[in-house]
Amino acid sequence: MKIQIQHIPSQGLALAYGNEARTFPVLKQLMDDGQCRFLEPIAVDLSVVSERDLITIDGVLATRVELACSRCLELFQMPLRHRFTLRYSREIPTDLHSGTGEPVALTAEQIGLVYFKGEEIDFQDSIQEQVVLALPFKPLCREDCQGLCPRCGADLNQGRCECGGVVIENPFAVLKNRQWPEQ
Ligand SMILES: [Zn+2]
Ligand SMILES: [Zn+2]
Repeated sequence: MKIQIQHIPSQGLALAYGNEARTFPVLKQLMDDGQCRFLEPIAVDLSVVSERDLITIDGVLATRVELACSRCLELFQMPLRHRFTLRYSREIPTDLHSGTGEPVALTAEQIGLVYFKGEEIDFQDSIQEQVVLALPFKPLCREDCQGLCPRCGADLNQGRCECGGVVIENPFAVLKNRQWPEQ
């Protein structure tokens, strides 16, 4: 996933990709670790604009994933769709650095910029990062998932459990009320 800077026309460039998740090392790792499963290729639509030494990529990515619900642990599938903007700038000119070799504080404008050298931008890593950002932090099979009973572990989406769901805060409390057989 690379662009030759000199091939970006003045009116901009539209690009479309459909890459298998396994071609992205971090996404492959997520799947190998069982964190999630990508059910479709990562579809990416990009519009690339070049203005002097600043390249702006507006993109939208779409795919479909299988995740484990963070409440009930059931696997479920969901579409993933995420809009993003990437900004690339030619390497910081050396005159921005102080003579001491100390890194200079970045301006607000410079934060979020990715620096590049030469005439080519490889944006595969940035796209991969956007896919990871698009994954829900606490996936839910549905908004009102009831989760598991904290006491017996039954899936409360299937109805009330046998135990009634009362959590015993102190496990020794049960001993206090216990009728011990007479010796
Ligand atoms: Zn759930
Ligand atoms: Zn229960």
